[in-house]
Amino acid sequence: MVGWFSKLIVATTVRMPKWFVRWVSRRYVAGDSLVDAVAVMKRLSSEGACFTVDVLGEEISSMDEAAFFLEEYIRVMHAIKEHGFDANISIKPTAFGLLIDPEKGMDNIRKMVSMAAEENMFVRLDMEDHRVTTSTIEVVVALHSEGLTNVGTVLQGRLFRTLSDIDSLETSLGPAADYRICKGIYLEPEDISFTGYRDIVDATNAAIDRMFAAGAYVGVASHDLPVINHTLSALEAHGMGPGVDDPRPNAGDHRHHKGPGYEFQLLLGVRGPMRRRLLAEGHRTRVYIPYGEKWYEYSIRRLQENPTIGSHVAKAFLMPWTNRP
Ligand code: FAD
Repeated sequence: MVGWFSKLIVATTVRMPKWFVRWVSRRYVAGDSLVDAVAVMKRLSSEGACFTVDVLGEEISSMDEAAFFLEEYIRVMHAIKEHGFDANISIKPTAFGLLIDPEKGMDNIRKMVSMAAEENMFVRLDMEDHRVTTSTIEVVVALHSEGLTNVGTVLQGRLFRTLSDIDSLETSLGPAADYRICKGIYLEPEDISFTGYRDIVDATNAAIDRMFAAGAYVGVASHDLPVINHTLSALEAHGMGPGVDDPRPNAGDHRHHKGPGYEFQLLLGVRGPMRRRLLAEGHRTRVYIPYGEKWYEYSIRRLQENPTIGSHVAKAFLMPWTNRP
């Protein structure tokens, strides 16, 4: 039943009435405006969560559009400060122009990261599809070499290259490397990525192990029990955990309002009970808060890029008890 319904969702994506997409996205998107994102963070702050805020939008077609993102993220930083939220920001490098004009895109990202540094705020560069994997990593390395260490990127377990990326980042950044590790939402070509569920989980877990061993900060972004449980075992093996100073001899100095060498990260609206359980056990858990007027395009693109989201939506619709916010 879930399989049939999810196929229907994906097949009819572009013809879906906007109200239906809005109804689905309401759960995963804080709203159209910063005011909506602030309201969601206020509510979840009372549960002890921390946040990373994403202004919806990605690949732009002219550099003028990048200016919008810069301005909006400045507003986000002010709001975070004003309300005293435990939050950082997540930006999409292509929304800052990395694909259409790499030099100007880099300048925009540098501006953003240095403004954040003044507020002692961390900036996560979300990882987009394989066209920008190398350039996104290069941006992080370049910024660190300029003394801007409040920035880190995301690596995707499904990509074959990920373990070697961790090794080369260990060489260039040492334990200052600060990762989000996830499976990767983009369905990448078979010659560069794992495509089966088990292979992706195993590769993601191997990346988590490599990151912990390198002394890096590890933000594990997954709702999947085999990944969460693997992380919990890895923490135990390293003597890490809630309330314990990171005991790894090679641990980096990870400030910027972070946990003791690691944190869990979840998407807004997904697996709330699991997030609250991790919180209750004392783990730092960060909720990814997307908001913005581009909620429609964002939702449709996500569904088209990765049909498994259709099955998550179907499951959330037909079996809401499996995925309470
Ligand atoms: P799955 O096996 O896909 O999910 C496990 C269970 O979680 C599902 O059975 C379902 O119950 C629930 N679930 C998962 N996703 C959803 C959903 N969307 N809706 C409803 N239920 C769901 N990918 C990138 O490529 N680049 C990034 O920068 C990036 N940043 C991320 C940041 C965060 C905080 C998170 C949590 C994910 C991010 N992702 C990113 C997406 C990630 O790569 C996966 O595609 C996504 O998390 C689904 O994988 P999973 O490990 O949660 O496991």
